[in-house]
Formats: sequence, C-alpha cells, structure tokens
Amino acid sequence: MNHFFTRLTAFALLSALAVSCSKDVDQAPVPTAAPAVGSDVTATRDSNLALGNPSGAVADATNSPNNYLLTKTQYVMSYCRDKGKPNWVSWHLSSAWTGTTARQDNFSTDTSLPSTWYRASGSSYTGSGFDRGHNCPSADRNASVADNSATFLMSNMMPQSANNNQRTWAGLETYCRTLSDAGNELYIICGSYGVGGTGVNGYATTIASGNITVPSNCWKVVVVLPNGTGDVSRISSSTRVIAINTPNNQTLATTWGTYRTTVDAIEAATGYDIMSAVSSTLQAVLEARVDAGATN
Ligand code: MN
Ligand code: MN
Repeated sequence: MNHFFTRLTAFALLSALAVSCSKDVDQAPVPTAAPAVGSDVTATRDSNLALGNPSGAVADATNSPNNYLLTKTQYVMSYCRDKGKPNWVSWHLSSAWTGTTARQDNFSTDTSLPSTWYRASGSSYTGSGFDRGHNCPSADRNASVADNSATFLMSNMMPQSANNNQRTWAGLETYCRTLSDAGNELYIICGSYGVGGTGVNGYATTIASGNITVPSNCWKVVVVLPNGTGDVSRISSSTRVIAINTPNNQTLATTWGTYRTTVDAIEAATGYDIMSAVSSTLQAVLEARVDAGATN
C-alpha cells in the first residue's frame, strides 16, 4: 500500500517536472485542459510579428527606405520614407499589454528614423483636415507610460478622415479589446494604401507640404485565438480572421462590420502576403473567408 503511494507520488512529481520543462517560450502556464474562449489562461506578451513580414521589409535605410523595417517593443512596422507614414504596422494584443495608464497624447517625432529623412512632428497634421490616425492604437498599449508614449510617435500615424478614425476604425479597435478582455489574444496587422482621401477640409493627396501622402484606403486584419502558447501552430481552419478595408473619407458608416472583406482582397490591393507564417494550405482557407461574427 505504502509502496503504491510512493510510486504514485514519484510519478506525479516526474509528470509535473516534464510539464514544466516543456513550457513554451511565451511563458503561459501549460493548461490542464483545452482552453475555451474566455478561459483564465494567463495572458502573455508575444511576438508582434508572429504572423510574418507582409512586405519583406528590411532594416536597411539606404537600400529599403520605402519598405523600412522599424522594430519597437510595442509594435513592428514597414515605414515608407517617401509617403511619410507606415505601409503596415503589426502587433500582438492580449490583456498583458493593457492597463490603467492614462492616454499620454504626447504626439512626437520618431527620432529613430534617419535624420536625413522627412520626419513628421506632432504639428505636421495641423490644419490639414485629417486626424493623426494611430495604426497601433493608444489603448492597446496602456500598461505603462513608455508603452503608451510609443503609440504617439508620428511614425505610427496616417492621415485619416475624422469619420473613419473616430467612428468605424475606433469601433473595431474597441471590439478587439473586448475580445482581449474576454481571454483572447489577437494578432493585428493594419495599414493604408492608395493616394487621396477626404477630410473635414475636403479632398487631398498629400499634407505637410507634400511630405505625407493621404491614403485612399485603410485596412486591418485581426486573427483571434484563446489565450495560450504556440500561437501560430494553434491557428486552424476554424480560427476567426477579421479583415476590413475602409475608404479614407467622410462617408463611412458607424458600423465597422459593413467593411468586412477577405484577406485575399487586401493582398490583391496591396501586393503583400499577410499571414505568411501560416501554412499556405491554411492561408488559402482563412484568407478567402469573410468574417460573419459578432461586431460588438
Ligand atoms: Mn500566446
Ligand atoms: Mn497571405
């Protein structure tokens, strides 16, 4: 009897040790059962570029100024020197990234860009009729002053129409945080393309004396997973993928769901390969689907 319990205890200890040694790099506890959406699995901060680099951006200012890879703790982007704005920005969202830090509103020049380039300042959009539209949103990075301030770097902004930024775009941003707060982690990539949009002062192709291009479209792709580890390998044919493509003008509806499209359509419009870290078989399935899930 005692011998049996001794062996049982030894087995349990060895099993626990095996589990702790197999911990994934993003350090969430190994769940004892498959987590459901809204599970209490510990949220972690994972790679902002886990889904892949959509445009093959490289950190080479000389040879790749218009597809320039800019990596920060809070997000990763491809920056376009000649357009004075990002091509795309990629980030991970979970409740590990969010907190109670106040919105800093400290729009400022990104001095990590080469000093010989045009670099937008906090006042570059003043009087343009366009909002300083965040790519990676302020409220997705509010666990510390440093994190929140990073979202106010002007390299993270695009000239966005007020009704896009403050209604449609804000609506999807809020919904993403609703999903995050409910125990999910999200991989988000957004960007803008095309030339010419309409702000509160009318149509424009550029602002800031031609240094910043006004895009015609703003798009976003969101991949939703329940909190867990080994995220890219957990993406399956049933994973929720939300893609929207919005015109950069004042005609937008309040509801973001109206603008849902396929990832394939965004790839065709931009020339990017989004979700390139996912198998081509799964990409073919997920990128052809239009999300029909809840919108709030
Ligand atoms: Mn994870
Ligand atoms: Mn793709």
